[in-house]
Amino acid sequence: MKKKILIIYTGGTIGMIQNQENGALEPFEFSDIYSQLPMLKLINGDIDFKTLLPLIDSSDTNPDFWIRLANFIGENYNNYDGFVILHGTDTMAYTASALSFMLENLAKPVILTGSQLPLGVVRSDGRDNIMAAVEIATDEFEGEPRIQEVCIYFENGLYRGNRTYKANAEKFNAFASPNFHKIAKVGVSITYNLSDIHYKNTGLPLIVHTELDSHIALIKLYPGIQTQMLRSVLTIPDLHGVVLETFGAGNAPSDENFLSLIKEASEKGIVFVNVSQCKDGGSVKMGLYEASVGLNKCGVVSGADMTTEAAVSKLMYLFGTKMPIEEIKYWLQRPIRGEMTV
Ligand code: ASP
Repeated sequence: MKKKILIIYTGGTIGMIQNQENGALEPFEFSDIYSQLPMLKLINGDIDFKTLLPLIDSSDTNPDFWIRLANFIGENYNNYDGFVILHGTDTMAYTASALSFMLENLAKPVILTGSQLPLGVVRSDGRDNIMAAVEIATDEFEGEPRIQEVCIYFENGLYRGNRTYKANAEKFNAFASPNFHKIAKVGVSITYNLSDIHYKNTGLPLIVHTELDSHIALIKLYPGIQTQMLRSVLTIPDLHGVVLETFGAGNAPSDENFLSLIKEASEKGIVFVNVSQCKDGGSVKMGLYEASVGLNKCGVVSGADMTTEAAVSKLMYLFGTKMPIEEIKYWLQRPIRGEMTV
């Protein structure tokens, strides 16, 4: 039976045209995808195309946008077998991570894709990306959708969305998932990594979580980080959580002033999650080196091998649920949607 797929266009390079006056690329509204991509008619599926206005460069993505997008999926959930979201690449990994937390009991594919070159350009990578994303969204296994989670499809690879980050601003191969295998590789055929597919069909109805708490901060450590700067951030009124991007396997300066600021904030109820600055792989292992013991004592919890993108959106999601702080700390250290390895 033909699958019904909804393509949701949100903006990004994939649909951009050049502003005649200043030459800058800006999103434009194309009213139907078939005019740009007639090959889509060959796919064994009924495809609808809807635009989420206003179209944005993904640099303008924010929690309000994620809420609108998640609600849009929720409203259309029962009418479609799968969703393909056309999105700018710059913050696609953040959106994929946020959606993964916001869509509980997801039992259908939600695949984000985009391109490095606009669709209207001769060598655009957008055509292949959309075609493959839609084809994967129509795929099934034993009567169930093959993919039942939020993914990113880009340049021959299907990734678990909340494991990715944008790794390259130049190559077509723009995304990396350092701590989790590709879910599928696309060549002449599509090869799924069956053991990595997140089958989670509980039969429970989809829950769309639409409370996100943006009272969080991201602090990247660097040698010479000033306590004054840290203090300014940690004393922001209503700050609830901090993603601390640390060195290597979760290490930080042993300086007393630095650590006491973290401890003070932590005692006031600010939650710290430790993720690594090492983008190419590895995990935070608190206590492995003396240099992370201090953080441990200050109440900082380990984000293991979570990406910064996943940690930021997970904090927003967890605080949005209004669960007690101890529970937030518990869940930060455990996978909710396959976003970390423990
Ligand atoms: N600036 C664009 C965006 O993220 C880049 C892209 O789509 O690749 O919206």
